[in-house]
Amino acid sequence: MNLEERNRQYAALDLVTEPVWIFDIDCRRIHWANRAALAVWSAPDLSELCGRDMGTGMSESVARRLAQYQSDFESCGASFNEQWTHYPGGKPVALNVRFSGHRLPDHRMAMFCEGRVSGLIEPESLRSVEALLHTAVMISLFSADGQALYRNPAARDSVRSPTETLKDRIVDGTAYAALVRALDEAGSVTRTLQVSTANGERWHEVSGRRCTDAVTGQSALLISEADVSAIKRTEAQARFLSMHDSLTGLANRTHLMQRFESIVASMRAVGEQAALIFIDLDQFKDVNDTLGHAAGDLLLVETAQRLRRLVRSEDLVARLGGDEFLILMVGENVRYELERIKTRLMLSVSEPMMIDNHEVRVTPSIGVSFFPDDGHDVQTLLRNADLAMYTAKARGRNEVAYYDPVMTEAVKNRTALEADLRHALDRGEFVVFYQPIVDVATGVIVGAEALVRWRHPERGFVSPDVFIPTCESTGMVHDLGRFVFRTAVAQQVAWRVAGHNLRVSVNLSPRQLLHAELLADLTQALGDAQGDACQMQVEITESMLVGRGETALELLHEIQALGIGIALDDFGTGYSNLGYLQRYPIGTLKIDKSFVQCAEANRPLAEMIVAMCRLMRLKVVAEGVETEEQLAWVRQHGIEFCQGYLFAKPLPADEFAALLR
Ligand code: C2E
Ligand code: CA
Ligand code: CA
Repeated sequence: MNLEERNRQYAALDLVTEPVWIFDIDCRRIHWANRAALAVWSAPDLSELCGRDMGTGMSESVARRLAQYQSDFESCGASFNEQWTHYPGGKPVALNVRFSGHRLPDHRMAMFCEGRVSGLIEPESLRSVEALLHTAVMISLFSADGQALYRNPAARDSVRSPTETLKDRIVDGTAYAALVRALDEAGSVTRTLQVSTANGERWHEVSGRRCTDAVTGQSALLISEADVSAIKRTEAQARFLSMHDSLTGLANRTHLMQRFESIVASMRAVGEQAALIFIDLDQFKDVNDTLGHAAGDLLLVETAQRLRRLVRSEDLVARLGGDEFLILMVGENVRYELERIKTRLMLSVSEPMMIDNHEVRVTPSIGVSFFPDDGHDVQTLLRNADLAMYTAKARGRNEVAYYDPVMTEAVKNRTALEADLRHALDRGEFVVFYQPIVDVATGVIVGAEALVRWRHPERGFVSPDVFIPTCESTGMVHDLGRFVFRTAVAQQVAWRVAGHNLRVSVNLSPRQLLHAELLADLTQALGDAQGDACQMQVEITESMLVGRGETALELLHEIQALGIGIALDDFGTGYSNLGYLQRYPIGTLKIDKSFVQCAEANRPLAEMIVAMCRLMRLKVVAEGVETEEQLAWVRQHGIEFCQGYLFAKPLPADEFAALLR
């Protein structure tokens, strides 16, 4: 269609005084323009104007907007108004342009543009109109019944259909209702909402405000929206990271706490229960120490997967740190559910796994607490499940233990005892008792074992079996051990002065044997009291030597070099490894009372040990001799020394002195 034909077709429009032109969206060219429009476009004539390529330098957003217009013209006969500015003679003139669809003779959809000059405009309003056109913020005006009255280009780009209402746009119906309610109450509102857009579902910060439509004067709703999806995504990632363990991807402690808090009210309401299943891997430290941390990590990841596979999808599996895992189960009958998976849980965790070509196997120690029976808040429940787990470990590991209030009692007791223990030494509550060691052949007292006693102001005598382990774990055993040895040396000297040169034996605890100061302490105690090292002896147990190798050997040699004798205590209760007797500088073997006191039939092993000791020229002491029958056995097997209630119980020094007389 040439220009002449076009002029003929649109001749009537040349009579209109307002600028009118037709824009060919596909070709990016003006198809036709009336005279008034030539002035708007500052064109000398129609052929020059129609020859201009409007596509060059067109921004992408304008191109997108044009395509959107075209499809809106097609789909619903839409029309739009835009405020344009042009500059005849350098002065800005506002032009209100109305765009509507116009079908060209070849049936393509073009844009019919009618301009109305609205006069000279204020620079401020001019700029605000420009800003409205080019901002990425989506601005729309809705009538009271929800119909869109106006959308800026960004808003038009974002809608799926030009006829959609605000309600259509907001994904969550209740969120929309809440938005409207807030608008009714406060007149304005800002919410971050999920919105359906032409680009799919996005997160928008939606600000709404009741206003009046400037055109009709009727009440309207002005909505502005900014896309905050990227921020939301980063937030979500940060949230995920803060709630999960990065190694295994399981929930972490924070997540567990929050989940529990969020369900506790509803659990109470519907009478549901929860089980907190605390899982600790028994040999994890060994794997870490022998195969390295990377292998340890693999083990944790594999364990995490096994636990996840085992539980129902609604159960939460968390890693609390280190080798500690936790399963949170909620339901009407969690006890039953736990019984159902208990065996599989044990088996699945302890199933061997291949790590770096090593077959690795760890067993679980499991402690369980129940809501609401064992606690109402997550801290208490966790603490109780942890206590139960320790009980499972104490029972020999690879066990499940259920929380019982006596566990808390035991801990309270232990903590109270620990607190008292800290002051016991300063307050002089420790005393050393002595138990005679007798020469079997002559019945003469040749030595004594120093045994410490704690006179508790309220509890009375507390057994060393109770407080020594606590002193061990608190490190107090060094001070206590120093006290016992000093007292024993002084006592040995006192007896010697009184004419009884006894050999005094003092127990060492495992931790003392590790302490760098031990040798200096022993030397100092001997020096201060002018004691005779050869009449002193220390007692150690086999378990203190296992796995210690060279360092223990060296230390024992140094003790021996001071002149102090070394006895191996409680022989027969542990490994009974005769190899130790050869390897370490041990002069005395103390046969444990369980051997002495056992039935006749079980004694052959003890008899064999005694025979070996004789061959190795070790002194042998039988412990725990309580009856004449036991003494007869001791004598019959040529054991030189014995110790036990048959002769005397451990006694305070003065009572011991009476015995010597
Ligand atoms: P132990 O070294 O095996 O000490 C012998 C234990 O057997 C003592 O218990 C003693 O009272 C008891 N006993 C002695 N004769 C008989 C008997 O005929 N029958 C029975 N049934 N028992 C007998 P006690 O004094 O309660 O000491 C328990 C453990 O505490 C000791 O076992 C020792 O391992 C530890 N212990 C005691 N004093 C000290 C100390 O000063 N330092 C360290 N590190 N440990 C100590
Ligand atoms: Ca002992
Ligand atoms: Ca013993």
